[in-house]
Amino acid sequence: MKRKKLIVLGSVNVDHILNVPKFPKPGETLSGSNYKISFGGKGANQAVAAGRLGANIQFIAAVGNDELGNKIKQLLNNDNINTCSVACIDGQNTGVALILVNAQGENQIAIHAGANAQVTTEYLLKYKEDIISADAILMQLETPLPTIEQAAKLAKQHQTQVILNPAPAQTLSDDLLKHIDIITPNETEAEYLTGIKILTEQDAEQAAMILHNKGIETVIITLGSKGAWVSSAQRGTIIAGFKVKAIDTIGAGDTFNGMLVTALLEGKTLEQAVIYAHAAGALSVTKPGAQTAVPFRNEVEEFLE
Ligand code: ADP
Repeated sequence: MKRKKLIVLGSVNVDHILNVPKFPKPGETLSGSNYKISFGGKGANQAVAAGRLGANIQFIAAVGNDELGNKIKQLLNNDNINTCSVACIDGQNTGVALILVNAQGENQIAIHAGANAQVTTEYLLKYKEDIISADAILMQLETPLPTIEQAAKLAKQHQTQVILNPAPAQTLSDDLLKHIDIITPNETEAEYLTGIKILTEQDAEQAAMILHNKGIETVIITLGSKGAWVSSAQRGTIIAGFKVKAIDTIGAGDTFNGMLVTALLEGKTLEQAVIYAHAAGALSVTKPGAQTAVPFRNEVEEFLE
């Protein structure tokens, strides 16, 4: 069977994480411990999730033309991702997040978009034919918004299904929302987009209706360990998640999205695809890190047996 084609358009980031006893004051130097480098970026994480499930996937992104950027590209290739459209940009660093974590587990984060900011509308047009010929495109909000808007319009005009994970939360125009087929906010992002605080099923239903009324056919509001509110053609229900012992929830939403879209492209129903994505999301929170915690297909299938 010919595998349907997925494009992921999104960010690549490198997280530099250091534990400190307390946050330094201006001008102060403190010794930290447990320095870790972790590869992330919502785009890359979702691409990895799709790749590990076996999707036919092409990633549109940019990294710096340096050792780190080239290493990340190689790692993405190892996860079955076509990286011909991941540019290595001279004179730019790969996107970074500098993260300090204090003894209370609170964090201070400074980020620099770096090469991610080079995924411009002009850059996107190089891959116009790839988007037009794909079956679906999955995006998040860590690349420049004009590029996302252009990709959504182009895709929609050519019957490429458009899936938007609206993270991190930001204001979106009605003109963008009307080009989305499936939107997958978490509770915080759903509140940001609709003004409704999601505390009950009724809240989720009301928020989903607002998004349907903007022209979006399918709304999936992820609810962490509780699962997701799944609403299609104005009718919604809770699909429960799986109970696991969570140790690190970073990247759960990214795993959920990459797996959801891949399962839909394989012909699973919306409900089946959400259950599959829940299983993958649940497995991902049982391990530390973002990409390191993304399960492979056989692990998801064994979990579901
Ligand atoms: P995000 O990571 O974007 O904030 P959520 O926290 O809503 O998104 O999680 C996305 C999905 O990951 C959930 O719908 C669920 O399938 C899975 N998930 C997240 N946290 C847990 C958990 N503690 N136990 C089981 N599954 C989880």
